[in-house]
Amino acid sequence: MNQELASPQTARRGQGGPWSYISPSRLNLWLKCPLAWKLRYVDGVKTPTTPNLFIGKMTHTGLEHYYRLKQLGTRLNSGDIVRHVEDRWEEAASEERIAFENDEAEQAARSQVAGLLTVYLEEVPEDEPRTLAVETTLEAPLVDPVTGDALGIPLLGIADLVLDGPNGPIVIDFKTAARSTTPLEITHEIQLSCYAWLLREHWGAIESGLEIRSLIKTKKPQLRVHRYDRRSDQHFQRLFAAIRAYLADLRSQEFIFRPGFACSWCDFRETHCQQWGGTSVLVEGKEASA
Ligand code: SF4
Repeated sequence: MNQELASPQTARRGQGGPWSYISPSRLNLWLKCPLAWKLRYVDGVKTPTTPNLFIGKMTHTGLEHYYRLKQLGTRLNSGDIVRHVEDRWEEAASEERIAFENDEAEQAARSQVAGLLTVYLEEVPEDEPRTLAVETTLEAPLVDPVTGDALGIPLLGIADLVLDGPNGPIVIDFKTAARSTTPLEITHEIQLSCYAWLLREHWGAIESGLEIRSLIKTKKPQLRVHRYDRRSDQHFQRLFAAIRAYLADLRSQEFIFRPGFACSWCDFRETHCQQWGGTSVLVEGKEASA
């Protein structure tokens, strides 16, 4: 039984519950697999932070520090940023309860983060536009652009970086990836449309473009920058179609499994998913997913 989904009104009492806001990551996980979404956001099943995720988090920590200082007028070098990350490593590892296989694996992870941050600073242009915001939380009510209906739930996202641009701000997302492949725009469409919507509604500014800056964890680390155009009306209509379907699932409490590529890296594959018996969770304890 899960009371949290009984209604938007009851659910909002719980901070961070499914009805408190929609985020790009919530929406993306639900699109990949509603059952995995339910396990994470309704049942609250915790999954361990993997060393790869931790490497991504610590790389973000370094980039955030670099841009926060840059915004204040101080330009750090790669040694400064690596030291900042090193100083926080132990505490972050303990908070995340990250268990490296052995000391050698942990040292390799530290070196990988240092390498990624170093290559970022080597390759990012010296004359990068002015920093407008770093790791900033954007929140805006969701109002359907076609019908004008207020959906009664806000959209919330954290933008890694917002830079000034001649024709409007540029929203930038940092990613770490194992391989250097050009990302398909559609695989990032939800995230890009969410950030553009948030920028427009929260800041009242229309983006000049959006970027994904991928740090590639190859032997010789690489930086790949992928630029995407300003979002169109069609992008927002597609985003709201997905949001309406998501909200319909929340109301009906139907969270079907969706076997596919996402199963390859799903933490629930060998556990909760195996136990799922095809039934939906109903309130009042009448039925629960088996
Ligand atoms: S293993 Fe696949 S179907 Fe099962 S919960 Fe994970 S993503 Fe969904």
